[in-house]
Amino acid sequence: MKIAVVSESPIDEAAIKILVDKIVGSESEMASLRARPNGWAKIFEVLPGIINTLHYGTDVEALVVVVDSDESPPHQKSHDQSQLTNPECRLCRLRDTVRVVLTKAKPMPNRASLKTALASPYQLLRLGTAVALTLT
Ligand SMILES: [Zn+2]
Repeated sequence: MKIAVVSESPIDEAAIKILVDKIVGSESEMASLRARPNGWAKIFEVLPGIINTLHYGTDVEALVVVVDSDESPPHQKSHDQSQLTNPECRLCRLRDTVRVVLTKAKPMPNRASLKTALASPYQLLRLGTAVALTLT
């Protein structure tokens, strides 16, 4: 599986690739991204462009985005109920951003929809930190 990983640092991306490989049970191929965000706020700025680039211009099958949730409210199950997303919750913001961009994306021939895995761990991501990732 060819994947793209967006996070706050290249070190995080290497750790995330290891987690993804374990989850899917095979070694994934990392796509290189021209946009390299530094810091969580920049991720939200560049993410729509990255999604469109991946959707229209690559054969990347899955996008994994991980943003640290430090100093923001942690995601709560109540946010999962429609209309109750918390704009201060970074996982809710990630989900909303991805949903809006992918909803507007036109279907491409011979290409399945881009799978996404989004996470906002409560503590700073470190190699070995358990992060729940589910490809959807
Ligand atoms: Zn949330």
